[in-house]
Amino acid sequence: MSAAPAFEFGPVTEADFAELVALRIDVMRESLERLGRFDPATATERFRSTFRPAGTRRIRVGGEAAGCVGYWAEGDAMRIEHFYLAKQFQRLGLGAAVLRRLFDEAPSQVTRFRVAALRESDSNRFYERHGFVKAAESEWDIEYERPNLPPIKGGCLCGAVRYEARPTHREGYYCHCRMCQLAFGNTRAAFINLRKDEVRWTAGAPTFYASSKFARRGFCGHCGSPLSFEYLVSERMDLSIGSLDDPAAITPISHFAVESRIANWHGDDGLPGQRIDEHVKLTERWQEAYGSDVSPGVDAVRKG
Ligand SMILES: [Zn+2]
Ligand SMILES: [Zn+2]
Repeated sequence: MSAAPAFEFGPVTEADFAELVALRIDVMRESLERLGRFDPATATERFRSTFRPAGTRRIRVGGEAAGCVGYWAEGDAMRIEHFYLAKQFQRLGLGAAVLRRLFDEAPSQVTRFRVAALRESDSNRFYERHGFVKAAESEWDIEYERPNLPPIKGGCLCGAVRYEARPTHREGYYCHCRMCQLAFGNTRAAFINLRKDEVRWTAGAPTFYASSKFARRGFCGHCGSPLSFEYLVSERMDLSIGSLDDPAAITPISHFAVESRIANWHGDDGLPGQRIDEHVKLTERWQEAYGSDVSPGVDAVRKG
């Protein structure tokens, strides 16, 4: 994905009301019409009753007005409100970049973020993709919350490659597949799974090895530390637990590819396990790439 356009926040005053309400109506019109509820007068009134210029920021890209977002404290949470991007600034990754900046700004005592989305609007999917989960529902809106967890950081042995990530959880898993054993030179691998757009490479960049036709593994091209694993088509990826600055912050909750677990190296710890052939989607990926009679693993890849 290409980088989101650079943006800056600017102030909003009472004088901006007419312009911002026009933006709101333009952005929400389609979703409101879908609900059979498009009415400019009501949209204006609703904005009037919740518009807080002091807590609202203008979003500017290259000096151009790209949108606005409200952001203020609500008890121990931060409320995101009236987050609108003009149509020509949508689908560029700008929304995700603005959210990330807001998350970064939150004081550490903030426990969560809150936002409401109009039912059936595209913004539901947007917030869900960014770790918000449904907390309440009203007639027209769905209320979402996302925990405020500090970013996790990590990098390779030599320090050339560094990353920062904002997963909304602290759970990891072990992979015992032969490919991970070989890629890590170890008896198993440990990962945290998270969304690709929650990860930022902050120094250097990983070198990638295409470990199969549909996956790649990131490592430091200088010192060789294994850093990441991802399916090319997936929105999610893994980071290696050992590359984290604080691996103990993540708790292992399960095992994967237990058919190749090396038993004398890892006794049963009571966590649930899954075999590769129990993972339907993954089995399908292997079959699509290597044929329906494939036996997933190293040999299939080497045969090509
Ligand atoms: Zn390195
Ligand atoms: Zn594996």
